[in-house]
Amino acid sequence: MVTSGARGGGDDGGPAAGRVLTLLHRSGPLTRAAITAELGLAASAVGNALSDLAALDLVRVGEPVRGPSGTRGRPSPVVEVDPGGPVAVAVQLSPDRLTVGLAGLDRRIGHVRELALSEADTAPGALIPVLAGALSDAALQTDRRCVGACIAMPGFIRETDGLVRSSLHLGWDEVPLARRLAGAMPGGLPVAVGRASTLAALAEFRYGAGRGATSMLALNSERVGVGGAFIEAGVPLTGAGYALEAGHIIVEPGGLRCPCGARGCLEMHADARALARAAGRRSDPGGAAAGLLAGAAAGDRAAREAVRATAGHLVTGLTSLVNTLAPERVVLLGFMAGLYRAAEDFVRDGLMASSVVARTGPLDIVTGDLRDAVLLGAAERAFAPLLRDPRTALPTEK
Ligand SMILES: [Zn+2]
Repeated sequence: MVTSGARGGGDDGGPAAGRVLTLLHRSGPLTRAAITAELGLAASAVGNALSDLAALDLVRVGEPVRGPSGTRGRPSPVVEVDPGGPVAVAVQLSPDRLTVGLAGLDRRIGHVRELALSEADTAPGALIPVLAGALSDAALQTDRRCVGACIAMPGFIRETDGLVRSSLHLGWDEVPLARRLAGAMPGGLPVAVGRASTLAALAEFRYGAGRGATSMLALNSERVGVGGAFIEAGVPLTGAGYALEAGHIIVEPGGLRCPCGARGCLEMHADARALARAAGRRSDPGGAAAGLLAGAAAGDRAAREAVRATAGHLVTGLTSLVNTLAPERVVLLGFMAGLYRAAEDFVRDGLMASSVVARTGPLDIVTGDLRDAVLLGAAERAFAPLLRDPRTALPTEK
């Protein structure tokens, strides 16, 4: 099935081989006739592209099958990305853990490894060598060709050259991460750096809870902090480079001091730490928050009150964001999804009461569908050069 998510992405119009490979990557197996119809290309152009892609071991052309009964035309072979084809190293860097996986063009992620990080581990001087080792270990543990890596992390990131302008929760300032990791990958393969919230939102837009939406606002929280993204017609809003810092929308004027310098930011009042604080739990906020969400669902009164206090700040933040961006769909990820599920009616009713744009509609609020949205989004970024032009971006050696 071809989904509407497979059409967006802002990268149509490239060479035919890239367009065919992108379609198969995003849609899964298709008949050659379906590829031709979907891309609006001449059958000969699709045939040539598939020959090129098969010669590069990027796709596998199977047996011809007939179309649905009652349709005319010759049987058409089913084509899919080669399951033994290239991989990309996908990395999620959070303040408390490093997750590394290997992704294929079939969007399967394997060999996932997690490493817990303490605060002492996250200084650039300590963490960059660990990252470099993790990248090369991941690339070397497979016999498949590797095309590159992408590190998804929170912060203000200049994606053109992988400069981390600032990452508040890691305490990083002006770290040229991609440059410092050049040479970490075998064969000098490229290492990209991207914003975790944008990459997760892109993955949800293409393959998860955002499919079929024309515009989507995503809020994501990995225990500490809140990130946002807005995607319209497949393209993330970047503003002058760093949108969408939804976590720093002020929801409580004069509230808690945020590492960004302001007071009362959404992420200080609506992440897992905030929920733990609302219930008077200060140690292990991640564990406390999970217990409180479960307690609220089970009807525990104190837990419900803490959830409502925290969800109230989410409503305030969503009101500003929805009024500004008018998304067709809101997708909540990570802790934001858990908070929403624990107070769904409260958040929905609160937003309808406070946001004129939400009332005007249509507005859909949903939680994310994908288990590894950040890693999938990182893989999308790492595969982007190959999908743009499969003939030039593929390394000749493993
Ligand atoms: Zn802030």
